[in-house]
Amino acid sequence: MAVCARRANSHFFLDVRTRPSFDPPFIRVCKSYFRDLQMRVFNFSAGPAAIPEEVLRQAADEMLDWQGSGMSVMEMSHRGTEFTSIHEAALTDLRDLLKVPASHRILFLQGGGIGENAIVPMNLLGRKQTADFVVTGSWSTKSFKESQKYGTPHLAANGKTEEGFTRVPAFSEWKLSDDPAYVHLCSNETIDGVETFEIPDLGDIPLVADASSHILSRPMDIAKFGVLFGGAQKNIGMAGVTVVIVREDLLDRALPICPSAFEWKIVAENNSMYNTPPTYAIYIAGLVFKWLKKQGGLEAIESRNVEKAKLLYDTIDSSDFYVNKVERQNRSRMNVPFFLADESRNTDFLAGAKARGLLQLKGHKSVGGMRASIYNAVPIEGVNALVDYMKEFERTGA
Ligand SMILES: *Cc1c(COP(=O)(O)O)cnc(C)c1O
Repeated sequence: MAVCARRANSHFFLDVRTRPSFDPPFIRVCKSYFRDLQMRVFNFSAGPAAIPEEVLRQAADEMLDWQGSGMSVMEMSHRGTEFTSIHEAALTDLRDLLKVPASHRILFLQGGGIGENAIVPMNLLGRKQTADFVVTGSWSTKSFKESQKYGTPHLAANGKTEEGFTRVPAFSEWKLSDDPAYVHLCSNETIDGVETFEIPDLGDIPLVADASSHILSRPMDIAKFGVLFGGAQKNIGMAGVTVVIVREDLLDRALPICPSAFEWKIVAENNSMYNTPPTYAIYIAGLVFKWLKKQGGLEAIESRNVEKAKLLYDTIDSSDFYVNKVERQNRSRMNVPFFLADESRNTDFLAGAKARGLLQLKGHKSVGGMRASIYNAVPIEGVNALVDYMKEFERTGA
């Protein structure tokens, strides 16, 4: 556990990970000595998830007075010059990072990924009834079901096997319907740990991707997507804002029942200010975009993510003690589910992890086992601490 002690205006770190016997009494002693002691754990939560510490510090520093405005960002008019500059910078930085082409608009919506499960069909079905779905895990299953309220979706491919969701069906296996309004894919299945790396070219059929849990983890060819969306609380920032990147020519297909606040065309025409946007969440996202640029952009982040994922999968694969059943070419770099071969050890495993400041490792209730989400903001030190612990637990049982 990294312990950060803050005093007056200076802060410094006590790195207790190097202590062979870290224990809560030690933290209590520190707390009695440093009044404002703050502890930071390694957070493997799937979402809301880790945010870069630098970003949190800047937000804390600017909380009461954003850059001489005398106001918190939370208190600003969304139409004032201050927030407008925050909003525009976030848009520009995101466009830069993802190399979003001029053909695509970036919208900041509310409603999250689950909201988009309804918002997408309401915006894209137009005069058609059918959208095609590639089901690769729990999230695309949910999207498929929700879309049935608005049309008659077609299941084009299903990655479910006897072992659960363990693969993305190859494009050659997709059985598209005659004239679908769009094809929906969840490009990273957060719960099942299944990631799509090869994005097919569908010609005139718009491809819609739910990229909630891996957007910004690597460069992506946005031109291949009609729509790409993601809730912020996984790999962008805090909950409350949903990034929707949509090709301009798809903005005129909304069903009449689509609520105005969720009609992409109206949102685009109003530069995401048709209704009050989630201002603070946009501000935090903007700080994360700046942080990503400082890290070297998405190429640099990708190589770090490759390295982090390799550390973890290599540890899982190197013994029979831990198991991950996802086919190698589809293993998620962001969400790594794994099981202890002896599931009766789960509680001990989680307790030992917690004692070391390795938190939120319990798997999603629908699949059980463990899951380590290693988003951009989880440092390699966190993954190293986790794999060290996994090896030790295997060896000593504690
Ligand atoms: C978390 C998640 C969602 C749901 O996001 P909400 O903000 O809870 O609506 C949807 N899709 C994917 C891939 C996710 O990871």
